[in-house]
Amino acid sequence: MARRQIVKIDEEKCNGCGACVSPCVEGAITIENGKAKVKNEALCDGAGFCIGACPQGALSVETREAPDFDESAVEEHLKQNPGSYIPQVCFNCGRNEDQVAVLPCRKEGKSIWVCTKCLPALIHG
Ligand code: SF4
Ligand SMILES: [Zn+2]
Repeated sequence: MARRQIVKIDEEKCNGCGACVSPCVEGAITIENGKAKVKNEALCDGAGFCIGACPQGALSVETREAPDFDESAVEEHLKQNPGSYIPQVCFNCGRNEDQVAVLPCRKEGKSIWVCTKCLPALIHG
């Protein structure tokens, strides 16, 4: 255990849409009984990539006592659940994160992913 950053899920706001599941490269989030849950806190590195994916504003990152992030537990988890890794796709050009770096973004109330090549057009219009 250590004091560190970890995702916080507001169950009141969460509608169980599942948009936060695949953006988490560690596969730490699952949907249970219609709500997002952290499967195992050791899988969450607190990087917060899920935050921008949530259309409800239900995700944030907090600092508290939590089990240490465990890289080997993540590897094992992904090996046993190969479907957990879903490459995110740029909304504009369709390339995925295996081909180019993509960033989470919000646009007109929607969570989108944009690649670094398409980002300048988004910034400058
Ligand atoms: S994206 Fe937000 S609303 Fe959808 S399941 Fe995840 S926490 Fe819940
Ligand atoms: Zn693109």
